[in-house]
Amino acid sequence: MAERTLIIIKPDGIQRLLAGRIISRLEERGFKLVAAKFTHISEELAKKLYKVHSDKPFLKGLVKFISSSPSLVMVWEADGIIEIVRKMMGATFGCEAEAGTIRGDLSCGKRYNLIHGSDSPESARYEISVFFGPDEIVDYELTNAHWIYGVND
Ligand code: UDP
Ligand code: MG
Repeated sequence: MAERTLIIIKPDGIQRLLAGRIISRLEERGFKLVAAKFTHISEELAKKLYKVHSDKPFLKGLVKFISSSPSLVMVWEADGIIEIVRKMMGATFGCEAEAGTIRGDLSCGKRYNLIHGSDSPESARYEISVFFGPDEIVDYELTNAHWIYGVND
């Protein structure tokens, strides 16, 4: 099975009506959508998602932001997707993100940076389990996969 990652279009992405643009970039890269949930993330779930940041001074503000309005929580699949998406997202702060990246093209602040993407296979497994049970992840063939990855011959 190809690698999976948790991608969230954060409240600013939904409110700024950028969800379609962001999803298009993921589709255009050839990734496969395997789960999606449009949901208002509770403070409790936001704290669980950002468990690695529990000691950070920005946690409180981050949790407030993430639980302030709905988000689109998704699982996407592709070979090497975690690293590719991190590159596509750009640096954490929009004001520092390279032009050409999602954050660098569409945001310019610090906390409000449109998108979350897992940063390692372990975080991906954990973060996916925060939002989705195994039955909620849809297993299917992307019929054009060989046009994306090429044929092994
Ligand atoms: N964040 C913040 N202040 C900071 C650092 C991060 O508000 O000083 C927020 C920002 O929204 C970021 C999230 O916390 O996306 C998680 O931080 P992380 O360092 O994991 O960045 P990411 O993996 O999202 O690039
Ligand atoms: Mg992170």
